Amino acid sequence: MNIAGFMKTSFVDYPGKIASVVFTQGCNLRCGYCHNLSLLDIDDASTSTVPEGILEFLFKRKGMIDAVVVSGGEPTLQRDLHDFIKELRTMNMLVKLDTNGTNPNVLRALIKDKLLDFIAMDLKAPLNKYEYITETSCLNLSSVLKSVEIIKRCGLAHEFRTTLCPELEVDDIPRIILDFDIANNYVVQRCRSTKLKKVPRNKQDLKRLTQWSNMNLPLSFRGFEVG
Ligand code: SF4
Repeated sequence: MNIAGFMKTSFVDYPGKIASVVFTQGCNLRCGYCHNLSLLDIDDASTSTVPEGILEFLFKRKGMIDAVVVSGGEPTLQRDLHDFIKELRTMNMLVKLDTNGTNPNVLRALIKDKLLDFIAMDLKAPLNKYEYITETSCLNLSSVLKSVEIIKRCGLAHEFRTTLCPELEVDDIPRIILDFDIANNYVVQRCRSTKLKKVPRNKQDLKRLTQWSNMNLPLSFRGFEVG
């Protein structure tokens, strides 16, 4: 595991639980709004934290920390992710995986071995804008679609989430829901910043989105006030 960061305590990353957060190094996407830019290069080991140190910390705080969130970067790129989570399981930790959904086989294997309790997957954009928003060419979108289906059917707690970056139109949200056939557990998140464009989200846009949500599918909103 190439772990670039570790947050000892979080009250917001695992719903209803006190969690620690592990940030893995390396991502296969390049979203313009990524706020973990230092985590993107898979070969960068400059801030590496030894997994054993993290496991030791968690072992000492058994009973105080309920869960571990494995985030990134993109955790499914880590070769020994499976073994690392197994170690967490020996401490009876709940485990949440944050993923961009590009590695359905890894996801399937973790679910099969009962190593996850909660999965949060990003839906970056409608299918026709995926490469633009993720700044990634030749992206295998069928893998992303496969991950969505795996998560929908796995029976675990989960959420799909989209960061409403300025490059997305409000109408893209219903398109995402249609493209991925999402019926529930969908969260629209505020975009904190983007290197592509710095435009504050128009309140009218959010109002439209709320109205659409009221008439169609209940959406959750995270990080912004909707009025
Ligand atoms: S998938 Fe996440 S970590 Fe990777 S570039 Fe996009 S926002 Fe950053």
